[in-house]
Amino acid sequence: MPMEPLKPECAKCGMPVKVCRSPEGQAPPFCPGTLDAITIARATSEYDKPDTHEFARQASIQEASCYAGRGAGPYVLHPVKPRVQETCEFARRMGYRRLGLAFCAGLQQEAQTLVGILEAQGFDVVSVVCKAGGTPKETIGLRDDEKVHIGEFEPMCSPIAQAMILNERATEFNIMVGLCVGHDSLFLKHAEAPCTVLVAKDRVLGHCPAAALYTAHSYYPWLRREGF
Ligand code: SF4
Repeated sequence: MPMEPLKPECAKCGMPVKVCRSPEGQAPPFCPGTLDAITIARATSEYDKPDTHEFARQASIQEASCYAGRGAGPYVLHPVKPRVQETCEFARRMGYRRLGLAFCAGLQQEAQTLVGILEAQGFDVVSVVCKAGGTPKETIGLRDDEKVHIGEFEPMCSPIAQAMILNERATEFNIMVGLCVGHDSLFLKHAEAPCTVLVAKDRVLGHCPAAALYTAHSYYPWLRREGF
């Protein structure tokens, strides 16, 4: 039987000192650093484009600024900024003034709080809820028994409308709050400005999807069962 070609599997890398972290490090056979060296070189040249160069530079300056006491040795990571602060600071660094907010109707309150914070920081915010337009779910072929509220009128989430509305208002940077899986993909596909996720929806875990990973060994072992 022909051998499957190697594919990058960084998530399974057990190298104690990894080559991507240290020039003295080691690489497993599935390391993209060797498997995909040409692609990495091609990607690196993308950063030569002036806009991309500046965006990446500011993002990395922002990243470092999220830790206190840098330069003290031996250094222990000391993170100090919640993501909301990180988002505001990055937008300010980039000189953005008009921000787009694409949010889920289930997070109306959080969206309102966020707009208050962004406006207090001097940004002009255009916010669009996922249900804008009130387009019925039947439009995309849903049957009544496929709705959340069976037997009732139910507007569809329209991330494409959210993206187009923000595009037309020329937002410079878009913040996504609580869009559903798949709806977020459509928003990202159609938005023209760069986007960042502030809140990843998790209806059960208080919008902290990582909690299921933290507890996968204890309360969520069934997640590893094929097809659940
Ligand atoms: S890039 Fe290579 S060394 Fe780094 S985590 Fe991936 S496989 Fe491991």
